[in-house]
Amino acid sequence: MYVQIALPVPLPRLFSYRPIDGQPLPRPGTRVRVPFGAQSQVGIVVAHAEEPGLDPAKVKPVQAYLDEASLFDASLWKLAQTASRYYFTPLGLVLPQMIPVKLRKGEGSDPQPCTQWQLTEAGRLATPESLKRAPQQQRLLAYLQAGHPLEDGQVTALEFSRPALKALADKGLILAQEVLPPAPEPWPREWTLGETPPVLNPEQAVAVSAINQHRGFGCFVLDGVTGSGKTEVYLTAMAEVLRRGQSVLVLVPEIGLTPQTIARFRRRFPLPMEVLHSSVNDNERLASWQRARAGGAAIVLGTRSALFTPLPDLGLIVIDEEHDASFKQQEGFRYHGRDLAVMRAQLENVPIILGSATPALETLNNVKQGRYRHLTLAKRAGAGQPVRQILQDIRHLPLDAGLSPPLIQRIRQHLADGNQVMLFLNRRGFAPALLCHECGHLHECQRCDAFYTVHQHANLVICHHCGSQKRLPRQCPDCGSTQLFTRGVGTEQLEQALERLFPDTPSVRIDRDSTSRKGSLEAKLERIRSGEARILVGTQMLAKGHHFPDVTLVALLDVDSALFSADFRAAERLAQLYTQVAGRSGRAAKKGEVVLQTHQPEHPLLHQLLGAGYGAFAEDALTERRQAQLPPHWQLAVLRAEATQAHLAQGFIQQAKALLPKGGVQMIGPMPAPLERKAGKYRFQALLLAEDRRTLQQLLEPWLVAVSQLDSQKRCRWHLERDPQDLL
Ligand code: ADP
Ligand code: ZN
Ligand code: ZN
Repeated sequence: MYVQIALPVPLPRLFSYRPIDGQPLPRPGTRVRVPFGAQSQVGIVVAHAEEPGLDPAKVKPVQAYLDEASLFDASLWKLAQTASRYYFTPLGLVLPQMIPVKLRKGEGSDPQPCTQWQLTEAGRLATPESLKRAPQQQRLLAYLQAGHPLEDGQVTALEFSRPALKALADKGLILAQEVLPPAPEPWPREWTLGETPPVLNPEQAVAVSAINQHRGFGCFVLDGVTGSGKTEVYLTAMAEVLRRGQSVLVLVPEIGLTPQTIARFRRRFPLPMEVLHSSVNDNERLASWQRARAGGAAIVLGTRSALFTPLPDLGLIVIDEEHDASFKQQEGFRYHGRDLAVMRAQLENVPIILGSATPALETLNNVKQGRYRHLTLAKRAGAGQPVRQILQDIRHLPLDAGLSPPLIQRIRQHLADGNQVMLFLNRRGFAPALLCHECGHLHECQRCDAFYTVHQHANLVICHHCGSQKRLPRQCPDCGSTQLFTRGVGTEQLEQALERLFPDTPSVRIDRDSTSRKGSLEAKLERIRSGEARILVGTQMLAKGHHFPDVTLVALLDVDSALFSADFRAAERLAQLYTQVAGRSGRAAKKGEVVLQTHQPEHPLLHQLLGAGYGAFAEDALTERRQAQLPPHWQLAVLRAEATQAHLAQGFIQQAKALLPKGGVQMIGPMPAPLERKAGKYRFQALLLAEDRRTLQQLLEPWLVAVSQLDSQKRCRWHLERDPQDLL
């Protein structure tokens, strides 16, 4: 007998090894350590076979068995197979993504000791009054004195402050101890809601009863504008499932998983909940995975990869903001979290809710085809009035850092009324280009077909494609002139202009640069929430799921780039961004305004969005996509290749094309990628389109095996991506 093992290498096959003499065969789903080339690798057993598929003398033995039982339950194991086929990705790349990093690396799957904060003798005796001037420390002390364990990895999730923790430790009131986590216990089935929920409005009640009366798999699209009470529907539907003793998996976009969101779920459900997002460390992730697997978690709330958390008795999956691009994994195993969640719901035979104010066209198409059920929440739940929409023609107007005089006037008015203002500009940095006024030289990245972005505050120019950077030049490298001007406007410049125009009004900037430090996004959001900052500047990061009741004016500074983008999804993204941000304005009792600045005030897309709304836009966009033979009507995959020389990448795709049987799948390309040169590599791609799934699947599977045997594939890096979201 031989063992067939999935290894984390991008080859579309399994690897045969000899089992260890005198031990039982390792079970499928367990990890093994095997020799691979000069090193050893952690692999996952997939099957046993009588034939090794190569010269038996060359088959090496497994070095060690790492688990006794499979790490995957039956549905997750099936999910891996389905996903591997659907995404044309070897199991060796799929399976490791489904388990915690520590297990991927081969560490033990038994519980690891963790750091726990405990009271010292002095801490036990300390009175709250002694910390009267340090409310954060007081809260921490009270928590520990009430007998709660506090694991270090949970400090942030429980909304305690690190500095307060350190202060208590410095005072000798608490200390850190290494302890073994207690064995997970099943979550309690006897419980009551932690708060009284609001009475549902009729639309919410219809949605909840449709979901809760359903048994088995069913996909429900909860289509409701921001503030229409979608979360309330999730919570009510969840309560019913939890009451039956089944657990719930909730997925949200990375940026939507704020302490406020977490607190909202905790308030409603006083039940064990695992929270999984990017700042949870590997240790804590493993511990969460173990608790969930042992049936200790009633709720798992997390971002994309939390979708793979094992839950023994799953009853419902919820995906909030299902249209969000962050559900797409962009490297390695390139899956869409929403689509895999639907597959998981199908395999577990449970309902799934896809919530959004702006459902993806893919999702709406599934509704039209009768595969998903459409539930709408048309009205805002709490107080709230429709917003006033303004299309600001900026032709002929002088712009100050992208702001037109009428917009500046409006900002002034809203600030004078004591409200907050939110400005969107989808370009970070100070300016997207640096130009020599004398010779016209534009500073280009040497490794990419792209201009350097000026980051004035950091005194750098940075290429946003490859990350290369250098000191902000003072002189033109071509002619030596010192007359270097920036072109265009980024968020950094906009923020500066606002500080000049409104010197007495504090502002906050939210983009990838200003929030790269851990905790800084949260600190900035807090400055907005507290009302201290009144002008908010940001990229679309700022658009997602935040509730700021005092924002009454929202403006998109430049919508034109999206109107003329080469990406067929650009219009959909603009429509989603617009609809989402419009929902940010005037949510409380205050009337809101939304301004779109454009040089194209006659553009039909803008008129449709403002006049008829997202639903009508989506309807037309679906028709257009059908006529253009694009997703979601057509099935799309993209073959990408990059190499040190253009002809290598292009030639490989050309040869791959020659291997494709005629008919069934259309292959368009090879063509240069929109960014043809990136980080010194030349990039080419080809689109593969078929009218239905089966054709794409059946033709591309054998084709891919043939492609992976081409000689030319060795001289480039390449991959095939199913359902690509970006064609850059
Ligand atoms: P969404 O998730 O669609 O943005 P939420 O569920 O967060 O909407 O609801 C928006 C606001 O309205 C919240 O403050 C919520 O507590 C409140 N709300 C939701 N449903 C109701 C209801 N039926 N009655 C009263 N308030 C509600
Ligand atoms: Zn010059
Ligand atoms: Zn570059």
